[in-house]
Amino acid sequence: MKKALALMLGCVLTATAFIGAHATTPTASYVPGSYTASVKGFGGDVSITVTVDDSAITSVTATGDNETPGVGSKAVEQLPAKILEAQSAEVDAVSGCTVSSEALIAAAKLALSEAQGQTGGKVSFVPGEYTAVAQGHNGTVTVKTVFSENAIENIEVVKHFDTPGVHVKALIDDLPAKIIEQQSLAVDTIAGATVSSNALLSAVKKCVEQAQGNTALLMIPTEKPAPGAAEYTADVIVIGAGGAGLAAAQSANELGASVIVLEKEGYVGGNTMVSGGIFNCPDPELQSKVQMTEGVIAVVESALNEQPVSEEHARLIAAVQADYDAWKAAGSEGLFDSINWFALQTWNGGDKVADLSLVYTMSANAFDTMEWLKTLGWSHTEKVSQGAGALYQRTHQNSDLLGTGMIKAFTNAFASTSNLEIFYNTTAEDLIMDGGKCVGVTATDKDGNTYTFKANNGVVIATGGFGRNLEMINKYNTSGKWPDLSSITCTNMPGITGDGILMAESVGAALRDMDQIQLLMTTQPVTGNCVYAYVAPENVAGYLFLNAEGERFIGEDGRRDDISLAVLRQTDAIFYMLESGDVIKDPENTTDLIGVPLQECIDAGAILYGETLEELCENVGWKYETVKGVLDSYNANVDANAIKDEYGRSLFTIKLENGPWYAIPRTPSVHHTMGGIVIDTDARVMNTEGNAIAGLYAAGEVTGGIHGANRMGGNALVDCLTFGRIAGRSVVSDSNK
Ligand code: ADP
Repeated sequence: MKKALALMLGCVLTATAFIGAHATTPTASYVPGSYTASVKGFGGDVSITVTVDDSAITSVTATGDNETPGVGSKAVEQLPAKILEAQSAEVDAVSGCTVSSEALIAAAKLALSEAQGQTGGKVSFVPGEYTAVAQGHNGTVTVKTVFSENAIENIEVVKHFDTPGVHVKALIDDLPAKIIEQQSLAVDTIAGATVSSNALLSAVKKCVEQAQGNTALLMIPTEKPAPGAAEYTADVIVIGAGGAGLAAAQSANELGASVIVLEKEGYVGGNTMVSGGIFNCPDPELQSKVQMTEGVIAVVESALNEQPVSEEHARLIAAVQADYDAWKAAGSEGLFDSINWFALQTWNGGDKVADLSLVYTMSANAFDTMEWLKTLGWSHTEKVSQGAGALYQRTHQNSDLLGTGMIKAFTNAFASTSNLEIFYNTTAEDLIMDGGKCVGVTATDKDGNTYTFKANNGVVIATGGFGRNLEMINKYNTSGKWPDLSSITCTNMPGITGDGILMAESVGAALRDMDQIQLLMTTQPVTGNCVYAYVAPENVAGYLFLNAEGERFIGEDGRRDDISLAVLRQTDAIFYMLESGDVIKDPENTTDLIGVPLQECIDAGAILYGETLEELCENVGWKYETVKGVLDSYNANVDANAIKDEYGRSLFTIKLENGPWYAIPRTPSVHHTMGGIVIDTDARVMNTEGNAIAGLYAAGEVTGGIHGANRMGGNALVDCLTFGRIAGRSVVSDSNK
């Protein structure tokens, strides 16, 4: 409230400041007084009040305390002066904040119409079909709108570059349907997809202008009913609809439990949906087609030869040794792998910080989790590779874009049960405890309605990590590994703000490894997304990392933290993924991770291209001789079946020698928070005394102890889906005991 007042005071301007500045402005005829109009802005409603005498605007004030500070707030601050100076609402938008500006201009038009004695009125259009383009999240959104004389009849999203997934479905189906149903551009945007929603609204607004409709009238907010309170009961309440929450909901529901899922956004999927869609697990059949090179043998043997740091470590090494000996004795084809080896690598890869019993539970169940997902309709491509930071060739790649295939598998399964309900736009706030047992959750939705969700059996917390909570990132960035992370971009969805960790902590749950934060090196320099312009058909085996000088600086098959730290030391903290015709074999049918065709990535300048290596070097600004030297030495290592090069790379399977050539600029972004709630191997939440809190379970990124100091690429989905499934089973079976 205080902020709104301050903004308003800052924006009151009187005509005296502009005397002489608009001497040629034609005089209008007004009914003297003050007129206020509100319309929907970017984050909420914005208002303009114009005060007029009989022929001039004498002051203008604006409010809009939900507009983004430093972006939309600029429009709130600057437009009143512009309108006053122009003595008209026909002013240009403030640059960089088009949506807020357009809203304020529309409000000013409404207020001035009223000052001229024209109120209300019906919107009419010149019938026809109109097309317009607006800027969305990753690129432009093109929309076709059909009008009759009195109505918006149809809206079609012709093209968009938004992150694929269920919220795009919401953009394409739900938001257009709402606009048509309410005949209004003041409809609620989709929570968690504000930029994309506003892009769609902007494009439709442009179509309205082409059809000569009054956009201002369509932007008047509709009246909402006063918020109320409600109570619901189910056997299991799941908080968060990412991979872990959906897996928990599905597995509890399979056991006959009624389930309510609470999701703060207007769509399901969370970070899981926008992940790289990679899933690690030993897979004897597919790994039998992968070569066991000298470098890979050395990776296994060096872990086996390590001095054990504890008895459990010694036992695990011995188990891997036995698996390895048996594999060799059997004369097996292809790549060695086993549950024990997956567990040992995961534990070693996280600096032996994790709880080995949790690591083993994840490794032992990973294949079974994958088979379960397949029964729900998920599929992966028919080979295994080594995902970025995965450290071994056991990565399965989602057949659909990003993690959308996994999310779709769950939503399809939910469609066939009547016993499972998702509450969208509903933020869980507090756990309800009764005699030391968790019996429910309180929540509030976006319209201010409050809820009590009672759980017969228990509550599963699956709210993800805290990558989007800068306060928590700063509080816990104490490992000494990273510099200040406040200005580093983040790959996470907006709702990933550590809520579940805070809720659990407040009822006595223990937390662990909170200082372990992961940066992902392969993200887009401007947005920090791990989507857009990231083409890697062979994953790590098929690319090299070169810095701005065209030199290698780190082994590409190493850990994400080591690589990210090395990148932060390079010029502008940027590097390029160098790929070639050897891996991108079918450029016409190659897309980036979100489905943008390769050629469009090149046209947009997001991927640099050269028919020849010389041409690519010229486009990037590299010295040809430097890059040629890098490739010659790497290719010689592939020929020699080398064990390790001077940058620490051990994976030498694909030579890079044929054009065309591609360089994809990348930078590290905050990606995963490895710390969180302490759980046991049945996903029960543990208190600070080491006892399970009755009725409370947690799974996925909200938990700690599985990845230690560094999460292996491709292990996040294994973790959240495996422990989500376990949590769903435990919450049902514990209550049957
Ligand atoms: P995981 O990989 O562990 O499943 P995700 O990041 O994929 O985690 O999903 C977490 C989900 O939880 C997101 O969809 C996020 O919007 C949701 N969420 C976070 N906090 C809350 C909350 N307080 N109430 C309801 N949903 C929440």
